[in-house]
Amino acid sequence: PCTPILVSACLLGQPVRYDGRAQAIHSSVLLRWQEQGRVFSYCPEVAGGLPVPRPAAELQANGQILTRSGEDVTDAFRRGAAQALTLCLQHGIRLALLKARSPSCGNHQIYDGRFRGQLIAGEGVTAALLRRHGISVYSEFELSELEAQLARFDAALG
Ligand code: SF4
Repeated sequence: PCTPILVSACLLGQPVRYDGRAQAIHSSVLLRWQEQGRVFSYCPEVAGGLPVPRPAAELQANGQILTRSGEDVTDAFRRGAAQALTLCLQHGIRLALLKARSPSCGNHQIYDGRFRGQLIAGEGVTAALLRRHGISVYSEFELSELEAQLARFDAALG
């Protein structure tokens, strides 16, 4: 038995980012997890119905997500987050590896909502929803912590 993990699709090399590119992390650990069949690839923004490419969006202080031109994409972001949670609940996923600093996936920092490249403490919409439901969210900068936690979960599975 092995512990399943939800992973941001862009980290796996899928070109689903707002700019039409991927952000593959080329990690041997991640490759091994894929070979073990425990990786569920997921992009909340695409799942929520947004196209690739799409305008960059940032989370606002009031909880809305707006593009630079002011289009409100909050509903799509929330849909993508809700579907991520459904997927996790269906498959017993309690660990997630999500792309840092994304307005959906970021787990510690996000951009401040003013499109000026300024990071602040905060979480993306999907990362926050998963965490509130007890799913531990790690970024690509926390792979070793995730690996350690995964080993503990695998051991508990026996
Ligand atoms: Fe990657 Fe998440 Fe952005 Fe999709 S929403 S491109 S998975 S960071």
